[in-house]
Amino acid sequence: MIITIEILIAIIAIVINIIIFHKKSIKKTILISILIILALIIACLITFVEEKPQIDTNEIIEIEAKTGERLKKPKTTYIFHDVTSSVKIMGNIDYNKIGRYEIKYEVPTVLGKYSKSQIVDVVDKIAPEIKLQGEEVINQSYKSEFEEPGVTAIDNYDGDITSKIITEKNQINENQIEIKYTVTDMSGNTTSKTRKVNLIDDVPPTITLNGDTDVSVIVGNQYKEQGAKATDEKDGDLTSKVQIESNVNTSKTGKYIVTYKVSDNSGNEAIKTRNVSVVEKIEQPKPTTNENKGKSGVIYLTFDDGPSSSITPKILDILKKKNIKATFFILNYDSVGEKLVQREINEGHTVAIHGYSHNYKTIYTSVNTYMENITKLQAKIKNSTGYNSTITRFPGGSSNTVSRYNPGIMTKLTKEVVSRGYKYFDWNVSSGDAGEAKTSQDVYNTVTRGLRKSRANIVLMHDFSGNTKTLNALENIINYGINNGYTFDKITESTPMVTHSVNN
Ligand code: ZN
Repeated sequence: MIITIEILIAIIAIVINIIIFHKKSIKKTILISILIILALIIACLITFVEEKPQIDTNEIIEIEAKTGERLKKPKTTYIFHDVTSSVKIMGNIDYNKIGRYEIKYEVPTVLGKYSKSQIVDVVDKIAPEIKLQGEEVINQSYKSEFEEPGVTAIDNYDGDITSKIITEKNQINENQIEIKYTVTDMSGNTTSKTRKVNLIDDVPPTITLNGDTDVSVIVGNQYKEQGAKATDEKDGDLTSKVQIESNVNTSKTGKYIVTYKVSDNSGNEAIKTRNVSVVEKIEQPKPTTNENKGKSGVIYLTFDDGPSSSITPKILDILKKKNIKATFFILNYDSVGEKLVQREINEGHTVAIHGYSHNYKTIYTSVNTYMENITKLQAKIKNSTGYNSTITRFPGGSSNTVSRYNPGIMTKLTKEVVSRGYKYFDWNVSSGDAGEAKTSQDVYNTVTRGLRKSRANIVLMHDFSGNTKTLNALENIINYGINNGYTFDKITESTPMVTHSVNN
């Protein structure tokens, strides 16, 4: 620019010189012009020598640490020329270490070197990076605690700064929480990331049946639906939403199922079922003529838990010899036992049902289980002998406490058995032959002391295998009864029930 002005002044000087001296002397004019041009050349030379290179740079240059970024040569011009490539950077910069560095640019000039100082700040302005393990949106049960799937933070300068992560848990609404992770590096650069946790209701409602799970209805009677209650931990009482499906047909015996279904507001479904047995009522045989019916002073000898091949035949022999009829409450039997049952029937005794099984732990688990324990044996007797037995005795008696694992079961069973057309008999004279009576004399004493003239005496004895105490006492007991004015009889459908109070 200066040079341009110098040239302009020189041209003006030459023009003025020409205007002034042209007419007087051409020689003078040329000489003065040459002098002016020489002056101009000298001025230009002086200007070139004094000219400084122009370095285009900022006072402070920032360079990001550890990124591979390097200080570049600044754009430099010198006497109309771009001399950037000749610029030398003098001094050291550690690009891996934050700090302030002072360096110099050196540019060669006509008379030597020109240098300019430069401040370089190596900085960390890059924020750390947070990485989430697992999904950014997690769906989980509202009942489970949130478990962190993992999160890490890496900074380009500080390295692993996972331990500096601050985690915040914010409840956005009832169904969502937000986990916010924040980390700040040593240079104060901050990064945040969030994870959403959707709280899903995956807990089905609970259905509680009103009444028993197993119910039975006598064919032709009405099935009374007792309904069910439903509650959900989130939605509360859902009883009004319970849907009931039933295929119960009370005009036909069989097993039916009533299904109760309910869904909560999140679509979780609960199902419960009730087993309904439609059963036949047992036809009561016509009462046989019985002189001692309801009369006092009668002894009903009853033998439980048989038949056994060792004891039952000998008891039958004694009864035959004394011409006395008795009642046998039997259990399931094999082919040998079947002959004994047939003999009991042939010789005029009553065959009654104690149960297919005597196992207290299983037979009292439900009303249906118990009733099947009776009907199974009843069907077996009928199939093998043609004899229909409707007289029963509860294993342990109706006052038993062995069924207390199922509270209230005896109250239900004593009603159920009768409503299904059976009769059940307990006892009012126990021989003690399954327990406290140790000898046949004990059995004799216990029975004879328990007899009362004023009532019907139901005597509990057992004909299970090995029970010689009762076998050996039996004839003496019969003789005692005869000698003391008692009569003997078997239990029939017309005998009034003798029962204990339930004790469950
Ligand atoms: Zn028994």
